[in-house]
Amino acid sequence: MAGNKTLTMIKPDAVRNGHIGAITNQITEAGFRIVAMKLTQLTQNDAERFYAVHKERPFFGELVEFMTSGPIVAAILEKDNAVADFRTLIGATNPAEAAEGTIRAKYATSIGENAVHGSDSDENAKIEGDFHFAGREQFDY
Ligand code: GDP
Repeated sequence: MAGNKTLTMIKPDAVRNGHIGAITNQITEAGFRIVAMKLTQLTQNDAERFYAVHKERPFFGELVEFMTSGPIVAAILEKDNAVADFRTLIGATNPAEAAEGTIRAKYATSIGENAVHGSDSDENAKIEGDFHFAGREQFDY
């Protein structure tokens, strides 16, 4: 059975460009319930750990530099089939390939600065949620 939680980050580009409210609204209008949320900033060590799976990729340095460049909004979202439905809502990694109306099509500027993160599996949703939030910050309501 598909899990019901995913982890998102509104990335530094979208925060800088003033899109926190619009993106959060699109997320909740799509039926996701916010069960944890904070404005925070990743340190270099945080970003390197969060994206460790990409450490051999040529863009890893750029990714870490970008993700530490300003505040982000981290949130845990709850919905049936959360991981897959959220990835549909945000669209393809490259905004040029993202379906019309998706969050990345509307707010991303490039494949690197692509406005939002969404977990890619139930297992990673749990790991990433616990990376950002202590148990007492994760709500059930
Ligand atoms: P996602 O699951 O759609 O976020 O995509 P990936 O897991 O493949 O990549 C993680 C993140 O790395 C993306 O969201 C981008 O921010 C960044 N990224 C991916 N590909 C590139 C690239 O070719 N160049 C740069 N600069 N960043 C990239």
